[in-house]
Amino acid sequence: MTAPLPTPPAPTPGPAGGIPRRGLMLVLVAPSGAGKTSIARALRTWDPTMVFSVSVTTRSARPGEVDGVDYHFIDETAFDRMVTAGALLEHATVFGRKYGTPRAEVEAHLAAGRDVLFDIDWQGAKQLQKSAPRDCVSLFILPPSRHALELRLRKRGQDDAAEIANRMRLAAEETAHWNAFDYVILNKDFAHSVRMAQSIVEAERLRVHRRTGLVPIANALQSVGEP
Ligand code: 5GP
Repeated sequence: MTAPLPTPPAPTPGPAGGIPRRGLMLVLVAPSGAGKTSIARALRTWDPTMVFSVSVTTRSARPGEVDGVDYHFIDETAFDRMVTAGALLEHATVFGRKYGTPRAEVEAHLAAGRDVLFDIDWQGAKQLQKSAPRDCVSLFILPPSRHALELRLRKRGQDDAAEIANRMRLAAEETAHWNAFDYVILNKDFAHSVRMAQSIVEAERLRVHRRTGLVPIANALQSVGEP
């Protein structure tokens, strides 16, 4: 259940309404059940100009999942071809299936000043931190405790006891990487966590190297002798 959110401040204007800037890649990583998907959704509700990166995967679609929206569902051959062609920004094997981020879409969004949200695992985050350190903003979401995580997984009602035990083990593995991220949020209170994520986005949007539209303004302000 998504708690009501406080009225957000107006998002930083994008290229249409304000000063152009380069977009950022917000990479969200968390153990399953920590609240990552809900926080990502809340960020998009807050600022609908943010886009989700749609990954390619070799796993099959679950009921309700839509090709091209949740994932691009492709076979192993097509996946391997994309890897060879350098068409993936990062890729990893998770739960025995291959996942990857198509490069062209993301680069077009960033150049157009749109921020891109990534729901990927820690291996993918590590690759993006390395290959695109200036674009990448990485955020780890910790659940408040093991007990709380287990309760959330049970409450979701999606998995049986063996699957919950498996997810708890994987959660421990994923959490081992928490301190390799730029930011960390302890997700005790959903609305507060969303506010913290919004603050991170707002501050990161102001980083000098993203403010491409300020170059002519700053240059003009430095010219001497002209009114
Ligand atoms: P699911 O199959 O449950 O949708 O996702 C399984 C795991 O794969 C999740 O941890 C998810 O964040 C991760 N994942 C989804 N897409 C990608 C991707 O493009 N790259 C990487 N490295 N991980 C991904």
